[in-house]
Amino acid sequence: MTKDEGFQCPCCSGKPYLECCGIYHQGKNPETAIDLMRSRYSAYALNNVDYIIRTTHPRHPAVSQNLNLWKEEILKFSMNTDFEKLEVLDSKELPDKATVIFTAHLKQGDEDVTFTERSFFAKVEGRWLYVNGDVFAGENRSLKV
Ligand SMILES: [Zn+2]
Repeated sequence: MTKDEGFQCPCCSGKPYLECCGIYHQGKNPETAIDLMRSRYSAYALNNVDYIIRTTHPRHPAVSQNLNLWKEEILKFSMNTDFEKLEVLDSKELPDKATVIFTAHLKQGDEDVTFTERSFFAKVEGRWLYVNGDVFAGENRSLKV
């Protein structure tokens, strides 16, 4: 991850990274599922594999896989993908669960791998976690590697 403190947050908030998703990457728990989703997008953009893993719900299928393999998959996806833009389209948040619909504008080389996903989140012991997601438009690719 770069140490440049002035760069804009990859989640497209318009704020500097350290005043946006950087706060969460450094350990603060996002208060809303949207903030968690944005910070996971930024983590992918910055190849922050550990953040992706620690914000994934234990029920997610990848959690029971080989951890090193999962880490490699996330890293490979992050490194091979340009994270061009994030758009949050809709969200519903209850006290302990939430859905967020977003479009991630992504490129892999010259290929547009943009997708729209409905993500499901659950609050576990006060922390929002990513449960899973349905990709329902665009390429059949998902951030849930
Ligand atoms: Zn951000």
